[in-house]
Amino acid sequence: MLGQKWLFQYRGALLSGITTAGCIFAIRSIGLLQILELSAFDRFIQLRPTEPRDDRIVLVGFTESDLQKLNNSHISDHAVATVLDRIREQKPRAIGLDLYRNLATQPGHNRLKHLFQTTPNLIGIEKVIGNEQGDAVPGNPVLALSERIGASDIIADIDGRVRRAFLFPSTDPPIESFSLRLALEYLAIQGISPNPNASVLQLDEVKFLPFSPNAGGYLNADAGGYQVLLNPRGNKGKFRMISAWDVMQGNIPPTIFRDRIVLIGDVSAGASDLFFTSYSSASGSSPQPMSGVELHANIISQIISAVLDRRVLIQPLPEWAEWSFILGLTTISAWLSVRRDSFFSKMGWTVCLIISSVATCYGLMLVGWWVPIVPGAVAIGMAAMIGMTIEAQRLNILSMQDSLTQLANRRSFDEALGREWERAWRSHSPLAVILCDVDYFKRYNDTYGHASGDDCLRKVSAAICRSVKRSVDITARYGGEEFIVLLPNTNAKGAVIVAERIRSEVESMQLEHSGSQISPFVTLSLGVSSIVPSSSITPKVWIEVADMGLYEAKQAGRNCVVLKEFISDL
Ligand code: GH3
Ligand code: MG
Ligand code: MG
Repeated sequence: MLGQKWLFQYRGALLSGITTAGCIFAIRSIGLLQILELSAFDRFIQLRPTEPRDDRIVLVGFTESDLQKLNNSHISDHAVATVLDRIREQKPRAIGLDLYRNLATQPGHNRLKHLFQTTPNLIGIEKVIGNEQGDAVPGNPVLALSERIGASDIIADIDGRVRRAFLFPSTDPPIESFSLRLALEYLAIQGISPNPNASVLQLDEVKFLPFSPNAGGYLNADAGGYQVLLNPRGNKGKFRMISAWDVMQGNIPPTIFRDRIVLIGDVSAGASDLFFTSYSSASGSSPQPMSGVELHANIISQIISAVLDRRVLIQPLPEWAEWSFILGLTTISAWLSVRRDSFFSKMGWTVCLIISSVATCYGLMLVGWWVPIVPGAVAIGMAAMIGMTIEAQRLNILSMQDSLTQLANRRSFDEALGREWERAWRSHSPLAVILCDVDYFKRYNDTYGHASGDDCLRKVSAAICRSVKRSVDITARYGGEEFIVLLPNTNAKGAVIVAERIRSEVESMQLEHSGSQISPFVTLSLGVSSIVPSSSITPKVWIEVADMGLYEAKQAGRNCVVLKEFISDL
């Protein structure tokens, strides 16, 4: 019984919760929320407190002015060799050459080749995935021979932004990414290498869980190879960048590269590897791309920092947890929206819920969990809207209904009368009304008590409903123990038949009424009137005519029907 009552009270909340969750599931599974979710992800990434520069990595960039000083539109092997020579002198831990050197770029090819052969901690690049963004590019043959090549492939999302990084662009056969290769080179010197028994890449205690196609806000993303979500250190400038020209000229501090990872790349205006990341639109309206070498530095830093500093890795929630979060928010907001609160209080609670869920998602992002906020926010909004609509409808029904008998109330009847009056007027059709009044009802109350009186009224109203058969007929509680029936398209003869049916239906129930002076049972007196509406009478006056019929029925001894026609003075 209690369960039933609870269900009745909160059926709106349940209904709206389930509907909302279903809608979200549908719009999410066709990818309508993906871009919003990725943008929200970017926003959270941008809003995190800024992180310090990672000094374990130094970038050497061929800038636009360097190329002009070199008087060459290409970066020649000679220029690369000179830079490499200078860097080598300082004994870095690893050097990453983020420039394709599969073909000779004269002058200086032989010199560079010699350096490649004699620099064991130098890693070059290749591109293994050929696609519409470009063909595959082989690595330098000298470096390839000694397996000192990493894949520089980058994967972008549908909006062109890079939010993921390859650890292995291919797992069969396994091909290490350039960034992973350099990170492993760096960590190996500290005695850290991948755990051969782990099913995922594990360095020390840190597991790098592979990205899956539906992770977080993604839908059917390309999860080829072995990818992880990118956790960039920040916008541009999170790594020390030195111009290649300065390195060539020796205008650098003597230990700037010592024991560090040094990445050499092209950062000139004409460089083709520029990437948009979660930070790209942080500073203003025009998106700022990040150079490829800086992007690789971020990926390397992500791996090293996770292992050495226990910096967080970004993980999507498991699918079940995501859905529990969305369902939880939906249910809470649906419940809030059907609470018997004022509109403003409901809005206030809904806004609080949105703020606290955004804060929760942001807080979780800070500790590395990506909780999709967009479906949550949509859930709150939708549940609140549906819940409020249902509640408004419920209140509307309540305001039109008599709480004792569940019949239409007087207000609702007056509206219906206005409507039907107009309709009958336009179509010149007859309209009939029956006013019913319980005989000696005051005495019934006096004899059996008020509660029994209520019960009797409920039974009488049910009997009236049973006797009124057409769906267009309107039955209402008109006053205390008075009921009214409006019969569209009904003439006086028809209305009297219905009235008689009501009278005898009530009488035949044989509800004991010892206080009645005319019968041992509960009886009704009924006044009937029928009219074709015209300008000579208003609905109000017409009801009074029926009331006069009712009065005459009382005078005539009760338990009877009296038809009273309206006679126009005109
Ligand atoms: P008559 O035969 O002339 O109609 O006499 P009556 O006693 O029925 O008429 P009267 O108008 O004197 O009394 C109506 C009574 O109906 C008065 C009131 O106590 C009772 N009544 C009105 N509304 C309710 C209600 O919601 N519940 C109950 N139990 N009684 C009601
Ligand atoms: Mg009365
Ligand atoms: Mg009465």
